[in-house]
Amino acid sequence: MRKFIIMGIQGSGKGTQAKLLAEDLDLEHFSVGDIFRWNVQHHTKLGAQVTRIMASGRLVGDDLVESVVQGCLASHDWNYGFVIDGFPRTARQAEFFLESYDIDGVINLHLPDDEVMQRVLARRLCATCGLDYNLIAHRPRRQDTCDICGGTLVARPDDNPAALAVRIADYHEETKPLIAIFERKEFVATIDATLSVEDVQSSIRERFRLPPRPSA
Ligand SMILES: [Zn+2]
Repeated sequence: MRKFIIMGIQGSGKGTQAKLLAEDLDLEHFSVGDIFRWNVQHHTKLGAQVTRIMASGRLVGDDLVESVVQGCLASHDWNYGFVIDGFPRTARQAEFFLESYDIDGVINLHLPDDEVMQRVLARRLCATCGLDYNLIAHRPRRQDTCDICGGTLVARPDDNPAALAVRIADYHEETKPLIAIFERKEFVATIDATLSVEDVQSSIRERFRLPPRPSA
């Protein structure tokens, strides 16, 4: 059974890479962000809790993240491996996680800060239907117009250079101690995330001696 942790700053394509990896290798993809979003969309009690926290301008706390991840892993039937995304976030969680699970490795997607800026500031969102666009990777057919519903494309309010610079600095500060812990205990593969989606996926598989994607 293969167990991976995937890390990467926003814009690094972490979710896409985790999904591609999980697809044919029969891994469960646990994305903490996706789990929270699902709960918000489906109006669960957890979703209401998350919405309240975000509305007050705070970040979802470590305790809540931890209990959600533990719930997921506890309900796992352990016939499959996993790739976990968005956890651990703190040194304490990392130590605990590595003691509890025999991790095969940590995939660390590396994207230089200026490239993060470029990619994230190119993100757009349809104000009507919520579909995501990216002016570099996924351009709309007509400028500023949603291909599906004709709505207007807008940037998220927090996707501006000043706010993003803060998020980038936070990310480095948060992940540096984690990477140090992982490097001490596990195999960390740092992958160049500036490459194409296919090439990033191939490098991950090469580094961990995993079979190539069936279609590739
Ligand atoms: Zn739309």
